[in-house]
Amino acid sequence: MCGSCGCGGADDGGHAHEHLHPAEHGGTVTLEQRVLAKNETLAERNRAWLAARSVTAVNLMSSPGAGKTTLLERTVGELSGRRPVAVVEGDQETMLDADRIRRAGCAVVQVNTGAGCHLDAEMMRGALTELSPVSGALILVENVGNLVCPAMFDLGEHSRVVIISVTEGTDKPLKYPYMFAAADLIVINKVDLLPYVDFDVDLCEKYARSVNPDVGVLTVSATAGTGMDRWYAWVAAQD
Ligand code: MG
Repeated sequence: MCGSCGCGGADDGGHAHEHLHPAEHGGTVTLEQRVLAKNETLAERNRAWLAARSVTAVNLMSSPGAGKTTLLERTVGELSGRRPVAVVEGDQETMLDADRIRRAGCAVVQVNTGAGCHLDAEMMRGALTELSPVSGALILVENVGNLVCPAMFDLGEHSRVVIISVTEGTDKPLKYPYMFAAADLIVINKVDLLPYVDFDVDLCEKYARSVNPDVGVLTVSATAGTGMDRWYAWVAAQD
């Protein structure tokens, strides 16, 4: 059981002691606070580590299938000629996404979380150490695909992006408000499919702003290339 976010997923070995003896620490609420506080400390270290190297990190989160990896493939292909780019891939299992990113042409580290439902700051630090990015690099993080747990775990990133595709429900921002409230940018992907699906872009944007009034919203098609220049401009502004 992932006590840190209450999602029902298993936790990693680093938290095993806390899970075996939650009563010693005053119960579940205190346990969650301890896990999140520890993550917060490590995230601050990551932030300092990144700042010292002038490296920018952007954390991409979404449901499975929203198009994170496809967005990354095109982004890597089109940005890596302009600046150093590297990717951290989070999935429960497999190297499949890392293989796709490597073929797209950049350094990548795959983090497999096993039964875990999110990346955390400790995993991020391990990935950063392995990537050893040069000064001025852009690190794009593909978090584990779900709209719940990744919202609670700061990685030390500069900014957070939530991707929603038009094949999902327009009401996702209302159903998963914590994720959308934590976002700096919402990317609505697969707009090339809008003629075939029942998705209301304006209403989705309105719902997103109801939980996060100042959030940026971009519409793109990562497969067709629509709107990608605005995405690249937003990424460049994160330095
Ligand atoms: Mg993926």
